Amino acid sequence: MKPAPFSYAAPASLDEALELLSRHGSGAKLMAGGQSLMPMMNLRLARPEVVIDLNRIPDLSHWHRDDLGIRIGALARQRLLEEAGGPAASLPLLAAAIRHVGHVATRSRGTIGGSLAHADPAAELPCCMLALDATMVARSTRGERTIAATEFFTGLFATALAPDEILCEIRLPHPQGRSGASFVEISRRPGDFAMVGVASTLQLAADRTIRAASLALAGVGATPVRMPEAEAALIGQAAGEDAWAASGRTVACSISPTSDLHATAAYRCRIAAVLTERALAQACRMALKGAS
Ligand code: FAD
Repeated sequence: MKPAPFSYAAPASLDEALELLSRHGSGAKLMAGGQSLMPMMNLRLARPEVVIDLNRIPDLSHWHRDDLGIRIGALARQRLLEEAGGPAASLPLLAAAIRHVGHVATRSRGTIGGSLAHADPAAELPCCMLALDATMVARSTRGERTIAATEFFTGLFATALAPDEILCEIRLPHPQGRSGASFVEISRRPGDFAMVGVASTLQLAADRTIRAASLALAGVGATPVRMPEAEAALIGQAAGEDAWAASGRTVACSISPTSDLHATAAYRCRIAAVLTERALAQACRMALKGAS
């Protein structure tokens, strides 16, 4: 199929884009990599009157590392997270997850901000941003505001962004101390969205007890979900199989996935437990190796 008729604008600056968006509001759609928007328009699942192409705006594709953390422009291509010296060099969770996101071709056009704004609950990057306590920076003609990842994903393909807001930057804290991270998923084929995906970070104390942990899941609800109960139960525990198995059980009891043509709810709960154990064990191995 082909998209419904629409008009196209390609602003050369962020201010111009913001002005267009404030004028057209929810009648407009922003286009970043187009890897989700265009299929949705071709299937007539999205029928914007105006498409505002962000790709000519120069200052949205940056990334910086400083003492406060790492800042990534929303228009940075997903491939950036595969570059050896890129932002994911000090964020092993993103380095682990990005290879599950679509294919090299889609990652070459698809953007980090687009994946977050699209907010597919089975997508890997939203799940990781939740586990990493990322902060999103949104701009409109009314000004700038920050949105914590825990408040950003509000429902199925829905975010806290207002219709006149552009996601401009993602801010991520540096991993602390002896930490490790991992992302594991089960999908029907490589490059498919996750049936269930688990993002985990772990920080170990000198005595190999767990000082801090985060667990986020993709594919088990209308949004990616954090597992505060399983995280709290890990703190102070000795790192090891017993702790991972207990976390897996807690996660399986904390989620209420739906059944669909890919997997039943019971299967998703079962693999969520198994993947949680695997993710925590992998993150712990990384922390023990001292890599972070
Ligand atoms: P676009 O498609 O341009 O936009 C997506 C949505 O976000 C639109 O509603 C748009 O208006 C909005 N938007 C974009 N940028 C902004 C912004 N800066 N501020 C506010 N709103 C914005 N993704 C996965 O996570 N895992 C997968 O396994 C996966 N497999 C794929 C396989 C194929 C074959 C394809 C084509 C895509 C796949 N994707 C997958 C999706 C891909 O990662 C998309 O790139 C991503 O979902 C959207 O990023 P984008 O830059 O292309 O955004």
